[in-house]
Amino acid sequence: MADESLAPLAELLPAQTELNGPHLEGLAAGELRLQHCTQCGAYQYPPESFCFHCPSTDLEWKAVDGNGAVYSFIIVHQRYHPAFGDRLPYNVAVVELDEGPRMLSNVLDVEPDAVEIGMRVRARIETLGDEGAALFFERAAGA
Ligand SMILES: [Zn+2]
Repeated sequence: MADESLAPLAELLPAQTELNGPHLEGLAAGELRLQHCTQCGAYQYPPESFCFHCPSTDLEWKAVDGNGAVYSFIIVHQRYHPAFGDRLPYNVAVVELDEGPRMLSNVLDVEPDAVEIGMRVRARIETLGDEGAALFFERAAGA
């Protein structure tokens, strides 16, 4: 998808590093990729050189389907950065993926007072101009 209203947020995209490269390349390819521990099976985000759950450094990257639920959220009424333009008010949500990791993002296309803790959401990857892609969420079908 290409929601042109999100394009100004491209300047906020993180710089690609050796550690986050596979995650960002996944988003650019339209996939949500997370680190997966081959020893204990845990998924994790943000990426690290070791598993957060066991001492293993044997991590691989796997695409996940991006389904989860809102764990917590706030509604932002103040413009803290010009890139947010006329998006106010908007939500900032912590989404707990079904695989376990919690992702900080926005739930798009819902009224601010419609976001609820526990609301089922799914990943929605948006390209931001020519700069890359970012992970957002949207209400899951039937939620
Ligand atoms: Zn592990």
